[in-house]
Amino acid sequence: MSEPTIFEQIVAGDIPARVVYETDTTIAFLDANPLAPGHTLVVPKEAHERLRDLPDEAAADLWAAVDELTPRVEDAVDADALTVGVNDGAAAGQEVPHVHVHLVPRFDGDGGGPIHGVAGGRPDLSDEELDDIAGRIEG
Ligand code: AMP
Repeated sequence: MSEPTIFEQIVAGDIPARVVYETDTTIAFLDANPLAPGHTLVVPKEAHERLRDLPDEAAADLWAAVDELTPRVEDAVDADALTVGVNDGAAAGQEVPHVHVHLVPRFDGDGGGPIHGVAGGRPDLSDEELDDIAGRIEG
């Protein structure tokens, strides 16, 4: 068996965290290295590395928690907005291999940017390439 991730250890109560929300399937706690005051991680208790690995029910519970927590986190720190993000896979910057959703409070003039900056340079795609990609996603 692989080593339990740091988030499994938090779920198990083996290491401390500032838990702000908990149900049978989902937990949320403050990020230990916050990008902003109130930076919160929403985590399915069952260990799965990628969003694609999550069972339907765990995914539904995760997104319900995100929905419930976004206004609570924003209001708790009197933020102006919130960035919601998932680093889904190592190439996207995922460091902890256990699905988690970042809720990052945002403030007018905080010097940050929109999520449009996360993917590096923008590709120049032809209509044919766009049609092909759309078709493949549609399935
Ligand atoms: P990611 O790069 O999306 O995998 O983000 C992992 C996040 O987990 C980072 O923002 C870390 O600051 C956070 N983190 C790592 N260890 C802990 C911990 N023990 N408690 C709370 N947050 C943590």
